[in-house]
Parts: sequence; C-alpha cells; structure tokens
Amino acid sequence: GILTSRGGMTSHAAVVARHMGKPAVCGCEALRINYADKKMVIGDVEYPEGTEITIDGATGRVIKGLVPMKDPELSAEFQTILQWADEIRTLQVLANADTPDDALQAREFGAQGIGLCRTEHMFMDSARLPIVQKMILAQTVEERNEALAELLPMQEQDFYGILKAMNGLPVTIRLLDPPLHEFLPNAEELLEEILVLKLTGDQEDRKTQELLHNKETLLKKIRALHEANPMLGHRGCRLGITYPEIYAMQARAIFQASARLVKEGYRVYPYVKIPLVIHYKELEILRKQTEQIAQEVMASEGVTIDYKVGTMIEMPRAALTADEIARYADFFSFGTNDLTQTVFGFSRDDAEGKFLPNYINSGILQNNPFAVLDREGVGKIMKMCVELGRQGNPGLKIGICGEHGGDPSSIEFCQQIGLNYVSCSPFRVPIARLAAAQAAISNR
Ligand code: PEP
Ligand code: MG
Repeated sequence: GILTSRGGMTSHAAVVARHMGKPAVCGCEALRINYADKKMVIGDVEYPEGTEITIDGATGRVIKGLVPMKDPELSAEFQTILQWADEIRTLQVLANADTPDDALQAREFGAQGIGLCRTEHMFMDSARLPIVQKMILAQTVEERNEALAELLPMQEQDFYGILKAMNGLPVTIRLLDPPLHEFLPNAEELLEEILVLKLTGDQEDRKTQELLHNKETLLKKIRALHEANPMLGHRGCRLGITYPEIYAMQARAIFQASARLVKEGYRVYPYVKIPLVIHYKELEILRKQTEQIAQEVMASEGVTIDYKVGTMIEMPRAALTADEIARYADFFSFGTNDLTQTVFGFSRDDAEGKFLPNYINSGILQNNPFAVLDREGVGKIMKMCVELGRQGNPGLKIGICGEHGGDPSSIEFCQQIGLNYVSCSPFRVPIARLAAAQAAISNR
C-alpha cells in the first residue's frame, strides 16, 4: 500500500495506486517521514523502517499492525449480475491503464478498451530517466533529437505491448502531459549534495571537481525550468507546441508499433489523445503533425492503420470553445481531475489535506469534488461542452477519464448528459459496468 503525508484523492500517488489495485491513503498530514533516520513520526511516536501497518484506502484509516485480510472473490452470481448490467447499459466502460499487465487486468474485468494510457509513467522508468533528462536538458534541437532517437525504440515497445494486449479494442494513448521538471532531481536535494561535496570532498581531485561542475550545471538548468505554478505552467500540449519533436517521437512510436502488429495479424485501434488543450489552433497544429507521421509510417510500412486523434477537455476554456475544438477532434475525453481543479481553483494536490474537510464539515460542499463530480459547477460546464462539441462535430465521441469515471454518482451524471463512455482504473471497471446499467435504468 501507499501512505503519503501530502496530496489527495487525485494526486499522482493515489492515481497510480488505484491503477495497481493497491490501497492508498494520501495527504495524512500528521505524518512526518524522516528519510535520513529511516523512520516515520506521528505525534511523539516513532515508527522505524519495516514497521507493519494496515492501510484502508476506502475509508482513509491507517492502523498499526497487520489486520487479517482476504482477497475478494468474484463469484458466478457476481458475473451473472455484470452480464445483466452489460445488456442494459448504453455507456461503454473503458479502463485507464499504462502497461500491458494493467491492460490485461482491465480486459479480464470486462473493459471495452483503454480510455487513457498515461505515457509519462513510461518516462519515469529508472533505465530511461537519464535519457529523458538528457532530452529535457538539451540546449539545441539536435541534442534533443539525439535523446529522442534513443527513446523511440523503447516507446515503440511500450505501445506494441499495450496494443497487442488489447487486440481488437481501442487504445487511447495520451501524449506527454506533466511539467518537465517532474523528471529532474529535486533542486534542494541537489544543492545539499553540492554543499556536502564542497565541504567534505577533496577539492584538488580532478574527479571531484568534475562531479561538482556537473552537479552545479544541472542545478542551474533545473532552476531555469522552475515554475511557481507548474500545474498551470509549461505542461500538456504546451510542451508539444514548444518542442514538436517530443510529440513527433511519441506519434512515430505509436504508428510504428501499430504497423508491426498489423503485419503480424493483430487488429489495432490507436487513438492519439492531446492533453491540456485550450485553443483549437493547438489541436489543429498537433493533429496535422500526427496525421503527417501516420501517413509516413503507413506509406513506408505498406499498411493501413485505423487511428483517431482527439483531445482531453480539462481546462475551462476548452469546454467553453468546444464547438471550435470539435472540428479538429474525433473524440473528447473529460479530464475531470484537472477540470475540477481549474473550475474550483482548488489545487488537486493540496486542497484535500488543507481546507477541503472544513468545507465539507461546515456544509458548504456536500462531497469532495475530486471524488464525486460536482454537477452544479463542473457538471454544468461539461453539459455545455457536450452540446457545443456535437454542434461543431455531430459524430464526436465523448467520454470521461478523470477519477470520476469510476464513481457511480458521477457515472449517473455522465449518462444524463449523453456521454458515450467512461474510463476508470481496471479495478473499478466492474463497479462502473454496474453503475452504468443503473444509470441507464434511472435515466429511462
Ligand atoms: C484528468 O485531469 O482528469 C486526467 C485524467 O489527467 P491527469 O490526472 O493525468 O492529469
Ligand atoms: Mg489532466
């Protein structure tokens, strides 16, 4: 399980844990982690490394010691109920999955495709991180292209695996989204290393001098990339616009993997998803680039790939100008984690650990809007977006891939505003199938 002192329902640790089917409690502010002494401190009590605790991700309880546990069993009756649900529901249920294993798990639970594959998790792999860092710290396009050329075969292999696992079903792959500094070492820690080296290292030694120089250069670059508000900063398709070669590499990897699979007799449906769009021109430019690469790969490999290009809707401006954006999109996917963050102006990483409980206890809000979709605010914008989007493109497919896609009340709302699909973590697929059927019945 995963227990963190910061963050909340939709912060990275919680989202990744949910994918892996691990319990997670995030934003336990009473907790202090002392890395140096390898211990956790709560109040006056210290828990050394190796202390066993039990984490209940559903209620947020953290219990000292091990509570006896039992794996859930999916009985035959449960399967029958899900079958009935499938006959009734009109919403498709897809899964958020980033690896072939997650994809297979999702398939087993009845997912009808992948609605969100977050490619940044592929960039975090420890073997790749140095190459990713080389790409980020490159001073010229040539240097960046060198690093990207090293990443291309690895990304191609990632996509090959996930597309193969989902043979016959759509796989929606989102191009790189987080701010680049997330892939770099922490500036404060690096500064500490530099100071230690300066105080204790042999300054006459050439190796020490070189190490110090490299660390100082890295620190300068990290500081240059620093943003006061990274979640509203240089991320999402803003990266694709500034560094077109990054998205070009990812598109090439997607289509090359698809071409290989088509030749091997698999049926692949790659859907390329552009994150954080706020203006139709962003999508126009990035769609054109994606299509160009698809054409090149199809021509050189002599195959046809059935692909689509669409966008996340996670910024209010995108929702408000959905009619324009829809002209360049085959599909919309509501990223309600970011949309909730930006409509409320609540940081998704901090609100739950700071003031949100007070808002709920004092009755201002009924639910945590990061867990249960806020119909009156975020939902109103979504409804408007669906209407505008279909005006701009009557064939537009619209779904949701934020964490709300696995929450029954939010799924009911998605049915009411006429979405085509919900996408959630693999372990929430069965409940989403059931909730979609209930929503279809109550909406009749
Ligand atoms: C979202 O914002 O809802 C989303 C799915 O993207 P991410 O959580 O990766 O920002
Ligand atoms: Mg998002």
